[in-house]
Amino acid sequence: MSHRASRRRVLSLVPGLAVAAVAVPSAAAAGTGGSFVIRDVRIFDGRQVTGRGSVLVAGGRIVAVGDLSPSSRHRVHDGEGRTLLPGLIDCHVHSFEGSRADALRFGVTTELDMFSDPSVLADARRRRRSVARTDQADLWSAGVGVTVPGGHPLRPGWEFPRVTADTDIERFVADRVAEGSDYVKVILENGGPPPRPALPTLTTDQFRRVIAAAHRHRRRAVVHAEKLSLALTAVRAAADGLVHVFWDTEGGPDDIAEIRRGGAFVVPTLSVVDRGIGARDLLADARVTPWLSGAQRYLLEQRPEDRPGRPDFLKVGSANVRRLHAAGVPILAGTDAPIRANANGVSMLAELAHLVRAGLSPRAALAAATSAPAREFGLTDRGRIAPGLRADLLLVDGDPTTDITDLRAITAIWKNGHPVDRTPPE
Ligand SMILES: [Zn+2]
Repeated sequence: MSHRASRRRVLSLVPGLAVAAVAVPSAAAAGTGGSFVIRDVRIFDGRQVTGRGSVLVAGGRIVAVGDLSPSSRHRVHDGEGRTLLPGLIDCHVHSFEGSRADALRFGVTTELDMFSDPSVLADARRRRRSVARTDQADLWSAGVGVTVPGGHPLRPGWEFPRVTADTDIERFVADRVAEGSDYVKVILENGGPPPRPALPTLTTDQFRRVIAAAHRHRRRAVVHAEKLSLALTAVRAAADGLVHVFWDTEGGPDDIAEIRRGGAFVVPTLSVVDRGIGARDLLADARVTPWLSGAQRYLLEQRPEDRPGRPDFLKVGSANVRRLHAAGVPILAGTDAPIRANANGVSMLAELAHLVRAGLSPRAALAAATSAPAREFGLTDRGRIAPGLRADLLLVDGDPTTDITDLRAITAIWKNGHPVDRTPPE
């Protein structure tokens, strides 16, 4: 059957609806998912609650949203008492073997990696264009980040190119793009305060040249900066995003206004500085624990060291998130898993609770994990529930738009329109 004929068949089942201006491939073609309807469900479309309705999925994509009358040919999922959301997008991870399957089993259907092995990028790019059945979240990645010898991150045993005084920055960035980097991650990290050692980092001039080179290659430039002064350096160099919030000091009105004017988004990663609070909360939640893999449980059971006398980074970072959000700076959700008692997928449930405690409404926190990352990173086929978009969907009991922890009561996940088996690996 031609695509056109199959599309007509699907549309004929739902007369009078707004439908996607895309061909819906037949379910038999290319291993795409069957068609089904999630009926009478509260819909959070990635930006707002659009009320109760039904969602028709076929060929791996959302075909129609609204007041549908499903045909007997469609499998029907009852949405009564439940909320349907777009699959979540974690905007700060580091991927490793098994991490993308761990992510998917907790409703994170897309991960944005912020520094890892570039050898997986070609395969990741191919997979994320497909609507075939998969047991893994899709991946975008910075590949190798831009840092200096002896600088952050220090990863014994992993060699990757670093910028020295002699480096041709234009060439360095071109090499990252050639390796498949979807965006350029730049490290601004001078270490400290004592007893933490000071660290070498890029000069401001090198940093500016990296950002300009990324832009010449039409790549976003995102920046690791944990201090206000470095965040301001990044914004002044036209960085597109900060992939941590600054937590060394609270930003004043002028600082917040400057970041707002610069137009950068912020991925706070409060989970990095929560001293394991989020992990302990997840490990005590019976809605979460049955689905943890061994790797996830191991990571959540880590105890990040507490440094006596250290400022309360979570408190300061949360205050900065509140001010940035109030000023209109786009806030995106990210965990930095598997760093510091965070595990891919599951730790998004804790990060979103952190964002709500910091002052985002549950609706704003959910937008930070769906439509906002899609917009800021240019992911045009996901992040919302709308006709034509990829059917990455999350169905939960209750209403996470009023109680964010209801997001843990997952009843179904679909990736590319296929149901996800949540059974953890042995
Ligand atoms: Zn990171």
